[in-house]
Amino acid sequence: MIGEFTVEILKKAGLNQIPGDAAEKFTAFYDMLIEANKKFNLTRIESETDAAWKHFYDSAAPLIHAASYIKEGAKVIDLGAGAGFPSIPLMILRRDLSFTMVDAVGKKVNFLNETCAALSLPGKALHARGEELAREPGFRDSFDLALARAVASYNTLIELTLPFVNVGGSFIAYKGPGIDEELINSDRALSALGCEEKYIKSDYSLFDGEQSRTLIIARKIRPTPPNFPRTFAQIKKSPIGSK
Ligand code: SAH
Repeated sequence: MIGEFTVEILKKAGLNQIPGDAAEKFTAFYDMLIEANKKFNLTRIESETDAAWKHFYDSAAPLIHAASYIKEGAKVIDLGAGAGFPSIPLMILRRDLSFTMVDAVGKKVNFLNETCAALSLPGKALHARGEELAREPGFRDSFDLALARAVASYNTLIELTLPFVNVGGSFIAYKGPGIDEELINSDRALSALGCEEKYIKSDYSLFDGEQSRTLIIARKIRPTPPNFPRTFAQIKKSPIGSK
């Protein structure tokens, strides 16, 4: 069963304090994904082993490889949550955290809210574009931690996520191999958005060393200036940090 296998690989990687119902919830989430995928294409899943490593274990990676940035009781925002990665696996593993998931696609948002209700998980999903939501009251400078997995290239991502983060909070980007090119000019971009210039890199692997992944951690030390985020068209046209 995928739930038991996921718990086993997480334990092997050194994750302690896994809730007793985690295996059952991982399996139930997987079943919901497979069902939903029959109706509309939510996410690509090749096999249970594949999903356990690439989606569930990968989502949980910061609990093992960036643990000090995930404070007890933190308010977390997941930008571009899609079918629930990384939020849903993290919610299954950490009941003290509160999650706001954001996605621009309504059917994904419905799936996320249905999943939280069915699995009794305390997350909520909002149908919005990140660059617009960051200007709504109650969202700016309001989260201890922002997360994003497979959403956009790094400098685009930090402009979309950092306005949500409070001073003292962090943003963790989930990235694959070959990230170095994306990180060119990131020092200038991070600084413009209110972060320490230098990001922190934490490497890990999937499938017992076969595939490498990286978490890029940015720490916010000043408020993000009010002119960010710009419109998506502006962000795309002239990425922050590029001149
Ligand atoms: N994080 C998930 C999904 C990645 S796909 C995973 O790792 O599997 C990227 C998702 O980001 C899509 O669902 C897309 O709708 C959403 N997205 C992209 N740009 C966005 C934006 N500006 N605001 C909100 N959602 C966005």
